[in-house]
Amino acid sequence: MPVPYTAPLADMRFVLSRLLGIADMETADAVLEEAAKIAGEVFAPLNEIGDRQGVKFENGKITMPPGFRDAYQAFVAGGWNGLPVAEEHGGQGLPWLLAIAVQEMMQAANIGLALCGLLNQGAIELLSVHGDDRLKQKFLPKLVEGAWAGTMNLTEPQAGSDVGAVKSKAVKEGDHYRITGQKIFISYGDHDLTENILHLVLARLPAAAEGTRGLSLFLVPKILVNDDGSLGKANDVRAVSIEHKLGQHVSPTCVMTYGDNGGAEGYLVGQEGGGIAAMFTMMNNARISVGVQGLALMERAYQQARDFAKTRVQSRPIENPKAAPVTIIHHPDVRRMLLSMKAHNEAARALAYTCALAVDEAKQENSAAALRVDLLTPIVKGWLTDLANEMTSTGVQIFGGMGYIEETGAAQHMRDARILAIYEGTNGIQANDLVFRKLGRDNGAAFGVLIGEVENFVAATKQKNREALADAVGAAKDSAAWLLQNVKSNPALAAAAAAPFLRLCGNMLGGYYLLRMAELAQDDLAAGNGGADFLKGKIISADFFAAHVLPQNAALAETVKSGGGPVLAMSEAMF
Ligand SMILES: Cc1cc2nc3c(=O)[nH]c(=O)nc-3n(C[C@H](O)[C@H](O)[C@H](O)COP(=O)(O)OP(=O)(O)OC[C@H]3O[C@@H](n4cnc5c(N)ncnc54)[C@H](O)[C@@H]3O)c2cc1C
Repeated sequence: MPVPYTAPLADMRFVLSRLLGIADMETADAVLEEAAKIAGEVFAPLNEIGDRQGVKFENGKITMPPGFRDAYQAFVAGGWNGLPVAEEHGGQGLPWLLAIAVQEMMQAANIGLALCGLLNQGAIELLSVHGDDRLKQKFLPKLVEGAWAGTMNLTEPQAGSDVGAVKSKAVKEGDHYRITGQKIFISYGDHDLTENILHLVLARLPAAAEGTRGLSLFLVPKILVNDDGSLGKANDVRAVSIEHKLGQHVSPTCVMTYGDNGGAEGYLVGQEGGGIAAMFTMMNNARISVGVQGLALMERAYQQARDFAKTRVQSRPIENPKAAPVTIIHHPDVRRMLLSMKAHNEAARALAYTCALAVDEAKQENSAAALRVDLLTPIVKGWLTDLANEMTSTGVQIFGGMGYIEETGAAQHMRDARILAIYEGTNGIQANDLVFRKLGRDNGAAFGVLIGEVENFVAATKQKNREALADAVGAAKDSAAWLLQNVKSNPALAAAAAAPFLRLCGNMLGGYYLLRMAELAQDDLAAGNGGADFLKGKIISADFFAAHVLPQNAALAETVKSGGGPVLAMSEAMF
């Protein structure tokens, strides 16, 4: 029996209309409801099939399992692929905020399939911002439509986190370049969902500088495109194998070879030597989306664990040992786990959607919003994907032994989630980005603006949990001040504290949004707007977070300040 998925529309709407104050809820509702249908009815029923069957690689060709092409076609036929893309490029011109909400649903329903659309959106963004008119005219319409897919090609055997170690080569030849080299771990590097695939590839020109400064970015189509837009001959690029993985079995992870027969034809995107800056447009977009993948799996795991906890009967209630055995949702420890999942989901959703709103504002030349996006991106990616690992594991725990058995589907979410903390820049890299670039670069200015916003809320609210949030903000300020003293003078000590700092920032923001939502829910309850159980549940989520999570920030701040010592004291030989 496929595990159902029901989009959490009530909470999505609450975040959009109440927390973020979106005026046009009519459009938002229409989009959310339609997306919920395709996620629940088309993507979700294939999730387990994709996990069990995986992709096939035979005679150099990759085949998706039955049903996946139709599901992808339904997705693109509905215009979902181009939802946030400007109308001038053939998209629907809707906000990223809605695109992110839609993405949450698709990723929750079938993360392995939805990853294709995630990459397409990043590729579209990259090409719209950095492509010249010729490239845009030739490639964007089909990419936006979803008839062609996009990929990102950074990783090579010796170049993972260290992108500057990329060795793939590019040589200029007339109006194009010849690309040679090998890329590994390329998601959707080949598949049969679309008639063509556009690879965005980092490579190095002859005599280019060492490191990331010497990288340029190229668009390399799987099949060459004639000037009239028709498909021509196959390019000199192919997938040579696929990886066998812990999770996301249906997303083909490919080893790609470029230039077995003299060099793949590629077209420069942006400037020579400007590759990493251009690729970062796609990467930043994808980092937020990968955070949303984390949110999506947490939600999916929560729904399953909740439904199971309401039906599994085991043990008598602790407060009445003579009563008949009860469903496990009556046991306080199971409730604690479920509530932890619920509260973290709601915090994660609020953070991800707030960041998406800032993306839309940044596109309107709002420089404060652009700084906010920069600051939030590593937190969205790092915090939400760490949580996805923890919460999908909690989901398995709620199932007991049945969670460990594949047929319930709980284990799949945990396996699918594991990669989220690794790809698109590991969470260690996100933590470094937060500390050294986002905090250190402007000496804490953008971070200070964020802290100020939370402090203003604490000062104004009458929320009963305001003290817990005030303490959590104090811990964040304290540890940020310590980091700022050390980022330059003792970078290794600061780097050893980066991950606990990222966690602390996530906790603080999660608490901030949950408390704000609890306040709004209280108002709605008093005014009789909305379902009472839903609104009371929002208030309890904030209470839970204030009691169980926010107090951790004081300890995390201590770890930030004193945790690096032992880490650096261990020599290699002592391990
Ligand atoms: C399923 C899957 C799909 C992927 N899809 C794509 C894709 O589509 N395109 C693409 O280009 N790549 C893709 N990747 C590659 C992925 O982005 C890399 O695996 C990831 O960036 C980490 O690189 P690495 O595996 O070489 O690990 P390494 O860089 O070797 O890292 C190993 C460990 O060392 C840590 N580390 C390394 N350097 C530092 C540092 N400076 N500071 C602190 N810690 C550090 C890391 O955090 C990690 O814990 C994919 C990988 C997988 C497994």
